[in-house]
Amino acid sequence: MPAITRVVRETIGADTGLMIDANHAYDAVAAIQLGQRIEELDIGWFEEPVPPEDIDGHLQVKSALAIPIASGECEFTRFGFRPLLERHAVDVVQPDTCAAGGLSECKKIADMAAAYSVRYAPHVWGTGIAIAAGLHLLAVTASYTPPSLRPVEPMLEFDQTEHPVRKALLVEPIVHRSGIVTVPTGPGLGIEIDRDALSRFRIAA
Ligand SMILES: [Mg+2]
Repeated sequence: MPAITRVVRETIGADTGLMIDANHAYDAVAAIQLGQRIEELDIGWFEEPVPPEDIDGHLQVKSALAIPIASGECEFTRFGFRPLLERHAVDVVQPDTCAAGGLSECKKIADMAAAYSVRYAPHVWGTGIAIAAGLHLLAVTASYTPPSLRPVEPMLEFDQTEHPVRKALLVEPIVHRSGIVTVPTGPGLGIEIDRDALSRFRIAA
């Protein structure tokens, strides 16, 4: 893993952000050992270094590394996020807009994160509908980034892996241009569902 991370950093250069995501693959000791070996590579965040339920483990990793610690894709509602924020267990909180309670609930979580000066990056995984939801939430919480001389720009997680459903479901798929995604302006989420694609992927209950 450190060797791969090093090659990625060398390949993309110093000016492109690089984050790592462990999907809770480690315990705190292993996460710290890994983190120390890649700390010099200017890592934007270390996502889910330890199991999501292990708040003390997050605290251990966070206090041992200079890399910001991110977590939250497996947490739900304002009540689930309260201890993570109250205990300052993460530097970046990542509720999944479609799983953590929807737009209204995630706006509340974003308000809480802002009160604790914790960065907020919506977790996005799945269809174009999920991208649209995360994007609209970011559009109304962009100013929530913790205050500083050079505030960190909020970021949209924009999955580019092979995925037959993600683009097909939208009449006009959401795309990025040189890393910038425009918020759709139509009614609701600003997207139109391709009903034919929807029936193609439907599984009879
Ligand atoms: Mg993740």
